[in-house]
Order: sequence, then structure tokens, then C-alpha cells
Amino acid sequence: MENKFSHLELVDIDDLEKGKVLTAPMPEVKFPLTQEDHQFIVALKNKVIELGAAGLAATQVGIPKPMAAYQVSKEALKWREDVTHLIPLTVLINPSYEPIESAGKTLDWEGCFSGKNYYGKIWRYKTIKYRGQDINGNKIEGKAIGFEARLLQHEIDHCHHKMCVHSYDSSFLQGTQDELILLRKEEMVQKKQAIGLGQDDFFPLMAVEEGNNLE
Ligand SMILES: [Zn+2]
Repeated sequence: MENKFSHLELVDIDDLEKGKVLTAPMPEVKFPLTQEDHQFIVALKNKVIELGAAGLAATQVGIPKPMAAYQVSKEALKWREDVTHLIPLTVLINPSYEPIESAGKTLDWEGCFSGKNYYGKIWRYKTIKYRGQDINGNKIEGKAIGFEARLLQHEIDHCHHKMCVHSYDSSFLQGTQDELILLRKEEMVQKKQAIGLGQDDFFPLMAVEEGNNLE
């Protein structure tokens, strides 16, 4: 069957008309999913792979539904020093999260495929508890630490019509990705040098502290 979602186009926050979907409230997804929902999810996952993205929410391709697809591939370890484990491509529907405030926050680089004119650093909770549903409506619950927690906060925020471009830390440089990518790379190389790694090496997986196990 032809998938009518097979050519998903990214929506940008600076597109005054199409970009409205990114910040407009949306209703929960109902189960069982429709055939159209299933087709869309296949297309969304394909788009994540096509872009080499860590994650993508439905609103970013113009669909006002609280759904996101995300992954943590080995590629993430080129840039991120706080990856606790790799995650296969996963779909989360009707998601929400609550921070573990006692674990604190961390400031790190963040960009968005729907905010190509924005780049910078954002404070995120280091640890969160999240929940949502899979494509069959089954409940998903978990605890995320480090980069996984950052990624989920970003994607789940999208599902609550919130864009990261409004959260950049104003005491740090802000600009476009093109303007700041060299600075980011410089920081990354220094962090790697400090632990004896070359610039193209992968960061090791981050050990999870005692008492902070993934349940
Ligand atoms: Zn985004």
C-alpha cells in the first residue's frame, strides 16, 4: 500500500505559517492506532534514519500528535560524554516526564531540526522519569540519565508543543549551527584530549553512579 507520509518535510519554527504546528496544543493520541497512524510512524522512523537524527517529533513534520521517534546510536558518542547506553530506534506516544531534581542539571549543546537558525547550550535535568505508550498502547515507563535524559526532555517537550529554541542559556553564546559548530568541536576535542582520546575517537559509555541504577 502506498504510504501517503513517505515524503515528510521538516517544519521550521521561523516559517510563520507552517511553523505554528510546533507550538500549538494537540490532543492525546487514541488507541488502537489507525492505519494512517501506523503509516505515519513508519515514515517518521524512516525520517529519523534519513536525517541521522537522535530524535524527531511528529510536529516537526507538520503532524499535530504527541509522538516522537528517537535513538542513541554509536554516532552520539562522537559528541556526547554522558551516554549511558545505546538505544535502538524507539517510538514514544503521549509521553511525559518528571525531573529527579536532586540529581541536578547539566548545560550542553543542543540543536533542533525545526530551528535551523538557532544553536546553543541548554540546561537540562540530568535524570528524569518518563512515561508514555508504545504503538500498541502498552505503557512504557523508565528512568533516563545523561544524554538519554536530555534527548527525551527535548522530544517530550515537542510533544507538549514546546521548542528548545526558547530555552537557550542566555549567558552563553547563541547563534546558528553554522556559526557555533566550530566552537562546539573545539570543546569536544579538548574534552577528549583530557582523557587521552583523539578527536575522532568515541567517548566511552558513561558509568551510572551507584544508587542511580536504571530500574
Ligand atoms: Zn527538536
